[in-house]
Amino acid sequence: MTASVIDGKQIAAETRAKVAAEVARLTSAHKVVPGLAVVLVGSNPASEVYVGSKKKMTVEAGMKSFDFTLPETVSEAELLALIAKLNADPAVNGILVQLPLPQQIDAQKVIAAIDPGKDVDGFHPLNAGRLATGLQALVPCTPLGCIILAKSVHPSLAGMDAVVVGRSNIVGKPLAALLIGESATVTVAHSKTQDLPAVCRRADLLFAAVGRAEMIKGDWVRPGATVIDVGINRIPGTGGKSRIVGDVAYAEAAERAGAITPVPGGVGPMTIACLLVNTVRAACAAHGLPAPRV
Ligand code: NAP
Repeated sequence: MTASVIDGKQIAAETRAKVAAEVARLTSAHKVVPGLAVVLVGSNPASEVYVGSKKKMTVEAGMKSFDFTLPETVSEAELLALIAKLNADPAVNGILVQLPLPQQIDAQKVIAAIDPGKDVDGFHPLNAGRLATGLQALVPCTPLGCIILAKSVHPSLAGMDAVVVGRSNIVGKPLAALLIGESATVTVAHSKTQDLPAVCRRADLLFAAVGRAEMIKGDWVRPGATVIDVGINRIPGTGGKSRIVGDVAYAEAAERAGAITPVPGGVGPMTIACLLVNTVRAACAAHGLPAPRV
């Protein structure tokens, strides 16, 4: 079998187009223009590229983008003061603080200081708790993107065996909670899991969020399974250049899977698209309007 490729770039473009349509409707019918504030601390080149894309796509979707770049040496108190200001600003519907943060700043304290209604990253403990208890929540963007990609293949995930490799707070755990919400049967694997290949082979839906280049081999994939690869790993390429690969050994996995996401071009583009989804959802909630159709 050769897997069909799940085109994350295309699905992300469709998702952004739906967001833009909702923004246009909100703007004309309710004079509401959703606003996203992005806070970048220091000058991490990868973060700068990522933040640049976020700003560009926010504006392209018709929303307002508010940008704050703080020096690497900024104190925790100064960052918390900026967050308090953004929490109080009615033009700001979403607040995103780009991680990682310098060591003098406690990231958990910063996340907890964001108004949960503006927490478009979905990392605030209140949103994590609401997601875990099946209540309406702003949910982390990457797991939300994974669900949209899986549902592009299987419109209903109910009753499917899902295996999530990785249990981080930003990917593995919220993804497991979303899958439970979709009525999948969920196994969460991690570094202490025994016989990981056998666990993976049970999966109708296999999600890899490990951060280890091509760790998941082709013969770990059940024939016909849907494989969603969250991993972004930079490895040496040819001619002294580096290249990006996922957590799944793509070529061999594609021989057995029914459908698979490429890296790059799979989960990555969905993360920003889902950030825009969360911002428009937060804007509707802030104005007491029904949830958007996206
Ligand atoms: P993380 O916080 O480092 O978590 C990695 C998880 O993988 C942990 O739960 C760890 O288990 C587990 N793990 C590590 N080695 C393992 C092994 N040998 N066998 C089984 N499990 C193992 O990483 P993350 O933030 O979730 O990110 C995971 C990957 O996704 C990274 O490549 C990251 O760059 C990528 N990512 C991509 C996007 C995107 O937009 N596409 C967004 C976020 C992250 P323990 O808990 O036992 O240590």
